[in-house]
Amino acid sequence: MDCIFCKIADGSITADVVYESDFVIAFRDLNAQAPHHILIIPRKHIATMNDFDVEDAAVFGMLGQAARAIAADLGVAEDGYRLVLNCNQDGGQTVFHTHMHFMAGRPFTWPPG
Ligand code: 5GP
Ligand code: ZN
Repeated sequence: MDCIFCKIADGSITADVVYESDFVIAFRDLNAQAPHHILIIPRKHIATMNDFDVEDAAVFGMLGQAARAIAADLGVAEDGYRLVLNCNQDGGQTVFHTHMHFMAGRPFTWPPG
């Protein structure tokens, strides 16, 4: 399958990896929108949020666990951070291997654009 994030997960394309476990891997976004902009992805290819099956519930939980661990590692847990998961066209998804954006290091506004 020609999926850039699967290739990052299997190591055939390099990325600046900040966290990994059996279930997820997290790496810095190439086009950072914040001082810390990290993509947390399941190792399993799940194209969009719509494709999470009930048996993927644990994997989804691991995305949250990774976010918590990364925030602690970077020392931003208390100041805070933004988690974003874009789905399909209206959500602004451009890479169809679902991923959670972890952004920190500056204040974010609400509502998002
Ligand atoms: P989306 O728009 O799908 O929510 O987010 C995709 C993100 O992946 C974008 O922020 C983009 O900068 C990032 N991205 C796309 N290709 C690569 C890549 O090859 N390596 C890394 N590290 N980030 C990528
Ligand atoms: Zn993939």
